[in-house]
Amino acid sequence: MKLIFERGNKNRGCDLVAECDVPLVSVPAAYERKKELNLPQVSETEISRHYTELAGQTFGVNNGFYPLGSCTMKYNPKINDELAKLSEFSDIHPLQGEDTVQGSLYIMRQAEKYLCEITGMDNMDFQPAAGAHGEFTGLKLICAYHQDRNDSKRDKIIVPDSAHGTNPASASMAGFSVINIPSTPDGLVDVEALRSVVGEDTAGFMLTNPNTVGLFEEDILEITSIVHQAGGLNYYDGANLNAIMGVARPGDMGFDVVHLNLHKTFSTPHGGGGPGSGPVGCKKILSRYLPSCKITEKEGILRFADKDEKSIGRVKAFYGNFLVVVRALSYMMSLGADGLKDASQNAVLNANYMMDKLKDVFEIPFGNGRCMHEFVISLDKIKKEKSVTALDFAKALLDYGMHPPTMYFPLIVSEALMVEPTETESKENLDEAIRIYREVYDNACKNPDGFHDYPLTTPIGRPDEVSAARNPILRYNFSD
Ligand SMILES: *Cc1c(COP(=O)(O)O)cnc(C)c1O
Repeated sequence: MKLIFERGNKNRGCDLVAECDVPLVSVPAAYERKKELNLPQVSETEISRHYTELAGQTFGVNNGFYPLGSCTMKYNPKINDELAKLSEFSDIHPLQGEDTVQGSLYIMRQAEKYLCEITGMDNMDFQPAAGAHGEFTGLKLICAYHQDRNDSKRDKIIVPDSAHGTNPASASMAGFSVINIPSTPDGLVDVEALRSVVGEDTAGFMLTNPNTVGLFEEDILEITSIVHQAGGLNYYDGANLNAIMGVARPGDMGFDVVHLNLHKTFSTPHGGGGPGSGPVGCKKILSRYLPSCKITEKEGILRFADKDEKSIGRVKAFYGNFLVVVRALSYMMSLGADGLKDASQNAVLNANYMMDKLKDVFEIPFGNGRCMHEFVISLDKIKKEKSVTALDFAKALLDYGMHPPTMYFPLIVSEALMVEPTETESKENLDEAIRIYREVYDNACKNPDGFHDYPLTTPIGRPDEVSAARNPILRYNFSD
């Protein structure tokens, strides 16, 4: 495909910028441009075709099946985007007087109320901009709680090896040292291992649930009570709440603090870097440490209360990514309590259906035939026998017009493919995906050599991924 600088011709440029209507200011000579600015010289038609061509080369949930485990790439109803686009939400300024944005304050308060009800927490704070940012914030609450009680020896966070990779990273960034505990052969938390590491230095325990092999922790009440008895707090990574939403609540399982990924479960399309929202919910014992000021109501007017002196301080400017919260509230209100429960039940049903139809061919290392909203395949056997790797398999799927699942994650499964069909795929779509997975596997057994060349139909085949990440070419080279 031609780049925009290679299209058009000199003086073709279309004039879309209005006449300057403010006085011109002269800049010091040192900052003056010495050469003409190199802008593309293209007509409106050429611009339009350029972007249409680019759009055609991207792949999203509007193009096809996108079962990226741990990331929840699902179809999000467009009505939620329409509402977030309303100028009453998108054109306001964070320093505007509270009495001029009563609707927006109401939205934050309602979203907090509903999300607390869904998670079993007492307060929810929308400042964190993503899941990992929520983890960091939640851990800072745990830190503040222990410090406030002069319990300064609690500097360790326990993290199972089936946790999402961000968990140990966030704990370390928040100033804790991390104790890793192994999983049982079934892929669950090893309760005895947990019991043996808790103690007077335990600040808390961080659990991804369902964990990264797609399993619900069966001994969850025992796990959280072991940590509580040792004086620690329990952190719930609720990024993938579409597995349990409306069915079970972290607050009832003994968790003190939780983060959600509104951009996974609650209807903000993501990928490509944002925007996201990773609100942190907590029990009353931690509420005073939250970053934002609470919204209070007095004589029918909503206002931000004064900053609590115990607050850990802001983690992001103003109120977080507010428009993501608008979408989340719109999603919750349009689905209703029963609809949210249906969404998670379908997410779990779809994952189990697909896993069940694949398990005679593919190795599913954990789960005893059951999973939550996602499942993990291991291609270890076919790699050993035929030298076809998870990467080869994923690349072959591209030629079927299908986005591959997450590869090489979680780390505790070798040659892993992590599949999350999501609640928004129909049975027909799942059947088609199952057929293709089986066909690709069959081809891999029959013609393993050809597998290192796929994909053959995409604009680029196999880029050198390390160079692409380390030395990306982000500027057009004007040298000639
Ligand atoms: C996606 C995810 C995260 C991280 O969320 P970001 O918004 O990417 O920072 C954390 N934990 C789990 C379980 C996740 O799936």
